[in-house]
Amino acid sequence: MSDREAVVFNIQRYSLHDGPGIRTTVFLKGCPMRCRWCCNPESQNFEIEKMGENLAGERMTIPQIIREVEKDEIFYKNSEGGMTVSGGEPLVHGKFTIDLLREAKRHYLSTAIETCGCVEKDVLLEAAQYLNVIYYDIKSLDESKHESWTGMTNKNITDNLRAVKRKFPKLDIIVRTPVIPGFNDNEADIRKICEFLKQIGQKKYELLEYHRFGKSKYEKLGRDYPMKDAALDEGTMERLRNVAGEYGFV
Ligand code: SF4
Repeated sequence: MSDREAVVFNIQRYSLHDGPGIRTTVFLKGCPMRCRWCCNPESQNFEIEKMGENLAGERMTIPQIIREVEKDEIFYKNSEGGMTVSGGEPLVHGKFTIDLLREAKRHYLSTAIETCGCVEKDVLLEAAQYLNVIYYDIKSLDESKHESWTGMTNKNITDNLRAVKRKFPKLDIIVRTPVIPGFNDNEADIRKICEFLKQIGQKKYELLEYHRFGKSKYEKLGRDYPMKDAALDEGTMERLRNVAGEYGFV
């Protein structure tokens, strides 16, 4: 595939949870990680694939994506919304994603990205100059657990976060941790992350509750759902949010 095209598996309009205001979220296909809990398993492979009766993914150029996003321009203006690029891992598309963000800026669109941080540092830093908001996942600081549950080490994830904060101290960065049963749904993991965030001067931090919305997609892709019947114990989110609150994160 040329770097003028990427496989998009969804463009979600009127999205309220992927950044400020009303947004259009563009989901690019392809991710270096294989998180066991991934709720968009069709986002992991780079190529178009069959999911049940349908095909997941469609090749799109930057002008095609911008045209689609601009359809809701009126809503962005009234709500301070804009375009959010998500995945998979959007920065794994390197130049394509950087050019998409630059083009969005040329069209006066506000931009956000959702990244797992497991990307080339130079790509992240180049993309950051065209971004208003970064949602940055830190899943666990326990290296071996991270690797066994996501397929990737967390080393460059923490390094990249430090680097982007150093180079863009005023950029709005929201660090997020998906709370996953059996993985990081415990005080020790969350404390370790909070301490690291304090150390690097991170101000915004959110915990996201595990859900099983992706389960049926695994079936349609002919894959096993790795989380089986795992669920969070009642009260876990409240308990862990209280822990984050002790560090000043609300
Ligand atoms: S980083 Fe996100 S998209 Fe990639 S496998 Fe993990 S949960 Fe799925």
